Amino acid sequence: MRITIVGTGYVGLVTGTCLAELGHEVTCVDLDDGRIEGLRRGVCPIHEPGLEAMIARNARAGRLDFSTGMSSVAVSEAVFIAVGTPPMPDGSADLRQVLAAADAVGRAMRGPLVVATKSTVPVGTGDRIEQAIRSARPGLAFSVVSNPEFLREGSAVGDFMRPDRVVVGSDGDLRARAVMDAVYAPLGEVPVLHVGRRTAEMVKYASNAFLAVKVAFVNEIADLCEATGADVTEVARGMGLDRRIGAGFLEAGPGYGGSCFPKDTRALAGAGRDNGSPVRIVEAAILSNDRRRRAMAGKVVRAMGGDVRGRTVAVLGLTFKAGTDDMREAPSVGIVSALREAGAVVRVHDPAGMDAARGLLGDVAFADDASAAVSGADCVVLATVWEDYLGLDLGSLAASMRRPVMVDLRNAFDPAAAARAGFSYTGVGRGGTAVTPAFRRAA
Ligand code: NAD
Repeated sequence: MRITIVGTGYVGLVTGTCLAELGHEVTCVDLDDGRIEGLRRGVCPIHEPGLEAMIARNARAGRLDFSTGMSSVAVSEAVFIAVGTPPMPDGSADLRQVLAAADAVGRAMRGPLVVATKSTVPVGTGDRIEQAIRSARPGLAFSVVSNPEFLREGSAVGDFMRPDRVVVGSDGDLRARAVMDAVYAPLGEVPVLHVGRRTAEMVKYASNAFLAVKVAFVNEIADLCEATGADVTEVARGMGLDRRIGAGFLEAGPGYGGSCFPKDTRALAGAGRDNGSPVRIVEAAILSNDRRRRAMAGKVVRAMGGDVRGRTVAVLGLTFKAGTDDMREAPSVGIVSALREAGAVVRVHDPAGMDAARGLLGDVAFADDASAAVSGADCVVLATVWEDYLGLDLGSLAASMRRPVMVDLRNAFDPAAAARAGFSYTGVGRGGTAVTPAFRRAA
């Protein structure tokens, strides 16, 4: 099938490339000339495991190309809108990119078309997209369906190729439904849930908000574990083995971040208030998560004896999670800023996110590798669990530091092993096993 993707960011590029891999003929469109130029030369603009090779393979096979113009829409059967929906100052979703994309699609289309919205949009946006296309191109037949995306950055290719489910909101439009079924047919035995358009839009927000609530919940349980001597890693295992609960998203840490959970929870909470149906659980999760970054900086200060002025803190891992270069709403930004406010000298390292982090972190030193960041420091903070960090030799790391204090905000290391390596170790919610910091700043 001939397909156009409008918006070639994390979602659009992964969607377009994977649809080409499935055998469709795909054009990915973006307004960003540099991005499209780079992609034509085989340069992948985002860090996403497996993506660059898949782009090259499909471009070579003639199934995938890139453009700044919309001419491919005229010959496409389906168009996916995958542009950004960033938050407005009041937390609601900014739909300007989506409506501009819809207008451009309307102007470029020449025949019957199915327009699928992959961007995360508030319930009812499908109606506005439909209006935008109709006013740009009165008299032509088209269908607007909602097809929310559930991929996770860092494992986006696998998530797209092996999704738990595909959700299609077509309001019973049989032609649109058949086109969407044909798009996804090469995936094989994947549940395709056909629902109303508004329902599909809500499935996306409700899913993200639920996962965000789970993270915020386990983080508050972690705090209670610390206060009561329980170990949240074991509590989470004990909870997660219950199939009604599930093990995912029960890892205590510095709070959720990234381009989706923070903005989608705020947008859902706003929609709840606007519709006289507040989603109080989500509002509580937002509040809890917002407070967490400062609380994590406080944990570092306590681990260092209560005063970090003039002390060097090495922060390992900046992106909101491993496997991506995305720094949007990364917890590290708030933690680094609070540590700097408290007077610490901060050094940072990240395997993929340093370029994106440069404009966000202010006056910090960017180290070439983890060892260089940690060497001579008074504390090492693990903020994101990149594989490379798990392979570090803790003994040499501790020995290279001025004071071997470790604050493991991801509970990635075994507290006993860290202590054996010479670290004064603090994890998150590990009240029962955390090694009480022996170090106290000398008066
Ligand atoms: P992004 O900012 O990385 O990419 C959006 C792209 O769209 C940019 O490259 C921009 O230049 C381009 N664009 C904007 N207007 C355009 C237009 N009129 N024509 C052509 N290109 C245009 O955004 P993203 O992270 O890929 O997210 C896209 C949408 O998908 C958002 O609604 C997001 O909430 C949703 N989503 C994101 C993820 C994720 O993990 N990033 C997962 C699921 C859903």
